[in-house]
Amino acid sequence: MGRPTVRFLGGVREIGGNKVVIEDGPDRILIDFGPSFSPVWEQYWGQYLQPRPSSPVKDRLEFGLLPRVDGLYSEEALAGSDLRPSDPEFQGVFVSHAHMDHAGHLNLVDPRIPVYASEGTRSLLEAIEASTFTRYGEHDWRTMAYGTPVKIGRIEVVPLPVDHSIPGASGFLIRTSEGTVVYTGDFRQHGPRAAETRAFVAAAAAEHPVALITEGTRAGPDPRRQFSEEGVRSGVDSLLGTTDRLALVSCYPRDLDRFATLHAAAVAAGRSLVVSLRTAYLLSATHATFPTIPIPVPGETDTLHVYRRPKSRYFPWERPFLEAAVDAPWVRTHAKELLLSLEMSHFAELIDLRPVPGSPFIRSMSEPFSEDDLNDQMLHSWLDHFGLSLHQYHASGHASGPELEQIVHEVAPGTVFPVHTEHPEAFVGWAKRTESPELGTSYPIG
Ligand SMILES: [Zn+2]
Repeated sequence: MGRPTVRFLGGVREIGGNKVVIEDGPDRILIDFGPSFSPVWEQYWGQYLQPRPSSPVKDRLEFGLLPRVDGLYSEEALAGSDLRPSDPEFQGVFVSHAHMDHAGHLNLVDPRIPVYASEGTRSLLEAIEASTFTRYGEHDWRTMAYGTPVKIGRIEVVPLPVDHSIPGASGFLIRTSEGTVVYTGDFRQHGPRAAETRAFVAAAAAEHPVALITEGTRAGPDPRRQFSEEGVRSGVDSLLGTTDRLALVSCYPRDLDRFATLHAAAVAAGRSLVVSLRTAYLLSATHATFPTIPIPVPGETDTLHVYRRPKSRYFPWERPFLEAAVDAPWVRTHAKELLLSLEMSHFAELIDLRPVPGSPFIRSMSEPFSEDDLNDQMLHSWLDHFGLSLHQYHASGHASGPELEQIVHEVAPGTVFPVHTEHPEAFVGWAKRTESPELGTSYPIG
């Protein structure tokens, strides 16, 4: 039996889609399993043209959008494909956090393979399943306690918390027979849990790892404006201090820290935060799992309101919030007392909300990468139509290039493998060896 190896089946020269295989003798695990949002996907599929639910693996293999591996997919997912069902060849799938690009393909995994996640990640995945059409599949779920090693034969995985734009995120110390491989997951050190990232980096350095697999979302050129979470707070504070109109905000639907920040800013300005039914469900279902985050809770926090969009039928999970929910006429009457969270997919509500021209719209999400971004053009059309002013306040979920460089120096691995980045070349010179991984190649560890 040879030395342990690491192999990359996704997340190579792309942001997202991480799929990392660690093998040590007879033992094999997969870390993260999410879809690639690669140009190849956009070439063949889109909102109106999706892989068929009856042959999910077959339809993605056709365009190289999934790895061709045995003993990972469920028999059901393999339907119609030329990959034959077989006994599991993986002893576990480890999920670093509950974002789509890391967990979105779990529904294809053989239910006989245990799936490991932190308590926070598990609770978010459950809440997402309960309130959307996303399905992660039936699994032998194993909840990991931070700091407690999980033994998979010769491999030992130590989950540790890191700061990211979704709570419950983990980095892993993966101990093999030839040394430790550190996996960062997605992380930052400018959010509310920066201390966790610092502690993770220190623990990683103390292992004297043979390899570091790090995300590099913001490595290379990154012209976009970025704030810390505190910076978002003070930006929103100063904006709310200068307006007596309805304030609107759009942020990522799973960013619980951002909802906590926006709620605190609203309260400081004498306003209440208004959220969608889906956000209300998420806050309600997960707040107890994250006691250190000041998450406003529907029905308990009187400075939080739930907005009810007119619909002919409501889902069972929406119904508990309906009775106390507010509607467009109510929001118009109380405009200057509110900060209303409105996702772009719900912009039709603006037709009923009729904010006074000059009302501020806060984009609390990433700025678009390119000037011909279609969503961005649509956003501007709507803002122009209603005369809303655009304000940008966002804290990225990812460490900056200079921070990544400092972290790689601190961890001082034998080899650094950049993943989840379009610029692996930016890492050259940061560690003894930089290996820009090739898709499917096995790299010996140690
Ligand atoms: Zn990611």
